[in-house]
Amino acid sequence: MTKDITTRILHADRLGGVEHGAVLKPLHIATAYGYNTAEELTAVFQGDKSGHVYGRQGNPTTQALEAKISLMEDAVGTVSFATGMAAVCSTMLALLKKGDHVVASRFLFGNTASWMNTLSQLGCEVTLVDATQAAAVEAALRTETRIVFVETIANPRTQIADLEGIGKLCRPRGIVYIVDSTMTTPALFQPKAVQASLVIHSLSKSICGHGNALGGSVSDTGLFDWGAYPNLLPAYRKGAPTAWGLLQIKKKGLRDMGATLSSEHGHRIAAGAETLTLRMERACSNAMALAQWLEAQPLVSKVHYPGLASHAQHERAGKLFKSFGALLSFETVDGVSPFEVLNALELVIKSSHLGDNRTLAIPVAHTIFWEMGAEQRQTMEIADSLIRLSVGIEAQADLLADFANAFAKLGKK
Ligand SMILES: *Cc1c(COP(=O)(O)O)cnc(C)c1O
Repeated sequence: MTKDITTRILHADRLGGVEHGAVLKPLHIATAYGYNTAEELTAVFQGDKSGHVYGRQGNPTTQALEAKISLMEDAVGTVSFATGMAAVCSTMLALLKKGDHVVASRFLFGNTASWMNTLSQLGCEVTLVDATQAAAVEAALRTETRIVFVETIANPRTQIADLEGIGKLCRPRGIVYIVDSTMTTPALFQPKAVQASLVIHSLSKSICGHGNALGGSVSDTGLFDWGAYPNLLPAYRKGAPTAWGLLQIKKKGLRDMGATLSSEHGHRIAAGAETLTLRMERACSNAMALAQWLEAQPLVSKVHYPGLASHAQHERAGKLFKSFGALLSFETVDGVSPFEVLNALELVIKSSHLGDNRTLAIPVAHTIFWEMGAEQRQTMEIADSLIRLSVGIEAQADLLADFANAFAKLGKK
């Protein structure tokens, strides 16, 4: 089949064979699955025959979505979860033991940063480093380091991890390299290209795009040698080693922990994914125009967007990603509060979500990053005036006009 991502996603269900010749996978809402013989049921339970046993481990609808994500990431397999955070936590809990060490970027999505704090209370040590430099990651590595965790474009300050350099460090050392690619999506980047072991997505964001479903996923790129990973249980060392890691994540992280994606949400996410590349093209082009416009405003002191030549990792972004993303953030000059700016906008919605078709904005220090306190905000380079913009697919002229009107109002004060 053709290699183009959109074409493959659009035809994946049909070519996989759908009931009644339907062109897309229907909603399967059954909790339980019955078999004609006890032997057949046992074979499915023991993993010798493919099939479903109980809805907590997935159903045909979420399985079809997992197949699409695997296509998008060129992965050997995918496990879906109820949310992106469920994918992050369940994956790490399934792979780590007390005494293990994790190196993570210190520029992380706020709830993932909070989760790293929890993890350290559970007996795993976590070192947070400036992941824009592979040397900082290297300096933190220990013999007991099991996982390195980074985001592609960090939310909200858009720092870009040294994705290639970190991949080169992890692969020969047998360290699981987890890349949260929510901000880039498969439309811009495949973490497999930088030797990632596992790719995590919050499906609630751009992959769904319509703000009407929550979901998360973890995909195995097939590059990691699970045969040498010390924390896998004997029960999951069955068949080809490429499948072992994901099997343990599915059994421990999904079956035992239970944050399962519902078929309704999986279905909506699959529908959204069909237009991912179209939506990302438009949103990225809008983000670029807004970033350039904001950078020229006297009331704006800094704009953080990888597409701008002023961005510290502009070159890296250009080399690794198809375009520069739909997320940007900016700081206002002293005396202009982020609240004034946000309240002057009419079209842009004040909201904490991102990756939505609608443009959303939030004052991050006062909301998502409030709980962690001023000190941690400072190490994460979150200024008090920082506004995060998740740029949508509205007509560019309408978005620019909304900002022009808002800044004209502020200028008159
Ligand atoms: C939103 C987000 C998550 C968490 O996803 P949910 O689906 O909201 O739980 C994780 N990582 C990144 C980078 C995100 O933006």
